[in-house]
Amino acid sequence: MAVALRLPHLDEMLVGPLVEYVQEERVSNVPAFLKNLFGYDVKAFFDMLSGLDRLSEQTAQYWSCSAKAIARTLTAYPYHTASCSPAVAASVLELMRTSVGNVRDRRGLMFGRFVRLGEFRYCDQCVYEDRLAVKREYLHRSHQLPGVVVCHAHRCLLNFSPVRANLPFRPTARSEGPCIAGAPIDIGIRSDEVTTRWHDVARRSADVLTFALSSSMYCSRDVYRTQLKELGYVVKSGDVQLDDLSRHVTDYFTTGYLTRIGLGGGQRTRDWLASLLCGRQAVPMTLVHILLQSFIGSKLGKPTGNDGHF
Ligand SMILES: [Zn+2]
Repeated sequence: MAVALRLPHLDEMLVGPLVEYVQEERVSNVPAFLKNLFGYDVKAFFDMLSGLDRLSEQTAQYWSCSAKAIARTLTAYPYHTASCSPAVAASVLELMRTSVGNVRDRRGLMFGRFVRLGEFRYCDQCVYEDRLAVKREYLHRSHQLPGVVVCHAHRCLLNFSPVRANLPFRPTARSEGPCIAGAPIDIGIRSDEVTTRWHDVARRSADVLTFALSSSMYCSRDVYRTQLKELGYVVKSGDVQLDDLSRHVTDYFTTGYLTRIGLGGGQRTRDWLASLLCGRQAVPMTLVHILLQSFIGSKLGKPTGNDGHF
């Protein structure tokens, strides 16, 4: 049976129209509603939702959107697969189209290596503008990406939503709304200069989510090494000076920020830089590409925007 979900807004998360439908239609059995819509017991609503072929069929009358288009515009699929091989990107999409849930490690993307969201996040200024533009507030996809702590559009620190990422349908969330009375993300001491650096990460992350093609960051190692050589981080033997680089990257973003986003300082920074530059891990995740590109961009005089890697 077709489900009359309203059309999502620009940069909206898929969960938004679902929560509104449940509220307005007074759906009493939410798990059964979701199982009918996606074909499996849905647990997570942002990263890599499965059952998209079934969702596409169920909403065809109202959305007229293919499973692939849903993956690209309403999930984090474009962001995560920007850094993996074409074969992995294709198999991840295949998995998302089927109604097989609870696949934690989506074909080697290794999401467990960064902190998963507890609460969704929102920006006060976006809420104000969304209320003017579409008469409602909603959760933005670009605010939920790993590494994003400020709004890419407004540069202000994001707030935690009262909506729990794993319990978006609980009654309190429905009555209070997703973007009210949230506490700001606590990252300790921050200056205007450092906020500008976090903002650059947010801008690049939103660009990847919106514009990047799958695998466009894959095989960027030689580009990075060339740029780092220009900056003096590659010695004559061809080795990257990882100790210096990791110390400077940690100082640049701050230990508080790197810890908040699950990448720590010190040895952990060295580890993810090694994965990018020396191939010690098979699939460096998109976030670490963005951090290194942002750091390199600032040193080469390109503080914002992308570096043409995608
Ligand atoms: Zn904003």
